[in-house]
Amino acid sequence: MKLEFTSKIDFPEMERKVLNYWEEEKIFYELREKNKKGNKFTFLEGPPTANGLPHLGHALTRAIKDVVLRYHAMKGENVFPWIGGWDCHGLPVELEVEKTLKINSKKEIEKFGIKEFNLKCKENVFKYKKEWELMTKRIGFWIDLENAYSTMENKYIESVWWALKRMWDLGLLEKSYKIVPYCPRCGTPLSSHEVSQGYKETEDPSIYVKFKVDGEDAYFLVWTTTPWTLPSNMFLAVGEDIDYVLLDSGEKYYIAEAIANKLFQNPKILKRIKGKELIGKKYIRPIDEIIYEGKGFFVVGGDFVSTEEGTGIVHIAPAFGADDFEIGKRENVSIINPVDREGKFIEGPWKGKFVKEADREIITYLKKKGLLFKSEKIKHTYPFCWRCNTPLLYYPLDTWYIKVSTMRDKLIDYNMKINWMPNHLKEGRFGNFLTEAKDWALSRDRYWGTPLPIWKCDEGHYFVPSSFDDLLNHCDSKPEYFEPHRPWVDDLKVKCPVCGKDMKREPYVIDVWFDSGSSTFAQFHYPYENRDNFDEFFPVDFITEGIDQTRGWFYTLHVVNGILFNSNAYKNVLTLGLVLNEKGEKMSKSKGDVVDPLPWMDSLGADAIRLYMYSIPPWRDRRVSEHLIKEYRSKTIETLWNSYIFYRNNSYLDNFKFDGGEIINTLDLWIISRLNSTIKCIRKNMDSYEISKATECIESFIKDLSNWYIRRSRRRFWEEKITPEKLSGYRALYTVFKEFTKAIAPFTPFIADYIYQDLTGNRSVHLEKYPEYDEGLINPDLEKEMELLIKIVEMGRRARQIANIKVRQPLNLMVISTEDQKTLQILGENSEIIKEELNVKRLDLTSELRYLKFKVKLNPSLAGPILKDKFTEVSKIITSMDPKEFVNNSIKIMNFEIPKEAIIIEEESDPLFVHVSEGNIHIFLSKEIDKDLYFEGLAREIVRRIQIMRKEMDLEYNDRIEVFIHGDEEIEETIKKFKDYIQNETLSIIKENIENPYLKEWEIEDKKVSIGIKVINK
Ligand SMILES: [Zn+2]
Ligand SMILES: [Zn+2]
Repeated sequence: MKLEFTSKIDFPEMERKVLNYWEEEKIFYELREKNKKGNKFTFLEGPPTANGLPHLGHALTRAIKDVVLRYHAMKGENVFPWIGGWDCHGLPVELEVEKTLKINSKKEIEKFGIKEFNLKCKENVFKYKKEWELMTKRIGFWIDLENAYSTMENKYIESVWWALKRMWDLGLLEKSYKIVPYCPRCGTPLSSHEVSQGYKETEDPSIYVKFKVDGEDAYFLVWTTTPWTLPSNMFLAVGEDIDYVLLDSGEKYYIAEAIANKLFQNPKILKRIKGKELIGKKYIRPIDEIIYEGKGFFVVGGDFVSTEEGTGIVHIAPAFGADDFEIGKRENVSIINPVDREGKFIEGPWKGKFVKEADREIITYLKKKGLLFKSEKIKHTYPFCWRCNTPLLYYPLDTWYIKVSTMRDKLIDYNMKINWMPNHLKEGRFGNFLTEAKDWALSRDRYWGTPLPIWKCDEGHYFVPSSFDDLLNHCDSKPEYFEPHRPWVDDLKVKCPVCGKDMKREPYVIDVWFDSGSSTFAQFHYPYENRDNFDEFFPVDFITEGIDQTRGWFYTLHVVNGILFNSNAYKNVLTLGLVLNEKGEKMSKSKGDVVDPLPWMDSLGADAIRLYMYSIPPWRDRRVSEHLIKEYRSKTIETLWNSYIFYRNNSYLDNFKFDGGEIINTLDLWIISRLNSTIKCIRKNMDSYEISKATECIESFIKDLSNWYIRRSRRRFWEEKITPEKLSGYRALYTVFKEFTKAIAPFTPFIADYIYQDLTGNRSVHLEKYPEYDEGLINPDLEKEMELLIKIVEMGRRARQIANIKVRQPLNLMVISTEDQKTLQILGENSEIIKEELNVKRLDLTSELRYLKFKVKLNPSLAGPILKDKFTEVSKIITSMDPKEFVNNSIKIMNFEIPKEAIIIEEESDPLFVHVSEGNIHIFLSKEIDKDLYFEGLAREIVRRIQIMRKEMDLEYNDRIEVFIHGDEEIEETIKKFKDYIQNETLSIIKENIENPYLKEWEIEDKKVSIGIKVINK
């Protein structure tokens, strides 16, 4: 790789070079080969669906996976199997195909042909595979995509069938007719984990309907948010022990007592009764458009009835609710269901209408009949189809289930073995979901998916094959090529193993989440192949995906593997927060602010995006914008780059070769200590997946290296001769860059490799071992000392900012006060550094708060009532006392007990000083600028301008120049006073005039100054 080093670097360009180098040299494969014998660190790729474009959130997931895997690989571990995966089946794909075919229903699909439709689906699966691969490569995510598993491959499907056969043998698969959450557009039921992903806030009608009591001049008052279910009403339910009233408000109503006062003003109560007394009362159907002549239309008891919302009297339509269905079963009625599987009425006046669209007409209908008590709108959360966004219905259907509810206790046990990050998910969001784990509605009335491998004959015998071969052995004739998808699988002539009659497959495919939940073993084609690999792999050491997967992939992995292997599926699971826009809002397709990560990587660089993402705890939502990342990049990656350029330029000039010699300078010992403690810190945090804490260590090391070490060492490196001090510095810096690039290689793999290769000439930083730290080189006292100095200097700069005085303007005095003697001692030993850094002439260190005065007074509103007419008198005494006496206690004066809250202590600092404090350290910076200081400040301003001009002329730092400086009297005076200083600082000789100078007009403190420069020795 041809390396180029300039201070103006194009990071994306540099990264592309590194990418090409990795690819040409096959570094990734070399690394995998090298670690083959290492301890296994197992990782499972949560398979993305490649039929949609990747966005920034996907890039985040990939960056997080990469930093963890690279870290473990550098530790010599065998990351296994380190392959990608693709989720291929299910509604996401079918929906896309429906869109391209411009169709929108199952009827149309079947007209188009299942075979043709599924071929289209297969084609569509990898529509954006290239984009995914490109994004994966560009962000620097090392993973084997050539050998990625894909859930639609025959081998994968065979493993999934094996899992279902196991569950069948365990008696966990059953078919039942139940109310299921159902998407009328997709025409299929959904599982509870799918439903939980689709809750949204929405507005629905909220109506109170009058149900006329049969043979009584009164109504039951009933509330519902689904008017469309009223034509199917069969019962009303009350709570047996709930108190009800009959009230008169012009008309007579039955209603729960707890609600009466909310709905009516001063209702006239006619009588009070318990719910159980209402049971059996008959009523007249409010809507009798659907013909039904069986039993029904009376009050029943229901333990689910509450008075939290509604009226305490619940409308029961057995066709459209789980509790309702149970009541229908209990009362042994055939249910009224006028709605077809597309969610449309098939009889009555609303025939042909989608149920939600019939709501309004039904409300009007009730109004006309005088049965509408009140009609409002309500905002509440309601489940929608997670793929197509249609409001779900609760609908009675034949569905195959996995009896997960019988496994609850085991699944809760296995969860105890998982390290959840963040930890609260274990018992919270995930744990709660497990405690209520519902039976898994597995079958889907769809086309593109793993077919449900259950065959049935007319005699009612079932057959679930244990492998493809087992299935084919039960067929009349074997096809030349076996294709397990629909419709091919349904063309097989399967014979019943019991009675020999023809069998038919149960016509479903399975929940796509079962596919991905099987990836632990199906990626290996287990148990048909690779049994050893699976045994070594399982349970997985590490998985990570978005927080939404808590009820998606994390859940189905846990359930499928828990049932099959009686174990947790994974040991460590890291959940990731959302990527938000700069304003902190969720990015969305509808708002059009979903970010394609590629252009960002091409303008900001992948390293910058990666490190920025790592700097925030993974599970937190993060605000992201180009501006934020750019800002972050300048503090981190750019600073590191400039530090390296500084070392590189200087060490090249001095022809320095690293010799392992001694390091003698305190500053050098300090940066080596910081290097080792930083490596220690990264290791400790990465070993516990604390990526953002590790990143913090990286950030603060870069800051210390650039803002303190290099700045404090500059003069040493600028000396012309190679001094022992200078050599010591080069050795320190060489060591820093060599080890630090290794330490950050998992985080910012591009810049790390670029610098590392330039520095060492070695093949790649990614083939190196992750650096160890040497406890013996860590000097905590020295680090604390330097930290204190850095803090003092930062405080001093803040004081200057407050006073609005530039650091170039010398000041006479700074006072540091603290009661801590150790601090004073350290500052005393380093007073020269502090004076130089903050450009002050004198530094006073003291344990007294000499420049800070306290004013003490009484709070009149608190002290007044206690002291009454003695207020003024006590006030005078207080004001003259030492504030230290009040700090913690109440005080007794003239027999009055004055609480400390009644005493106000105000700080009053000396107006000649700026006061800044942090903890127990106070600094006071004198603001006074006399004539001498003023001229000295001007001299520094001039020096700075000359240095800028030297840079503009591209001079080497040891080039000598002639210079003239023309300005007003004060400028002349400055030059007279500070001639030597200016000449030394700028390697110049000051002259009255020069011929053909490089000339520039400046404005310094409102003065016009012209400066001319000419090189002498060129
Ligand atoms: Zn749907
Ligand atoms: Zn049979």
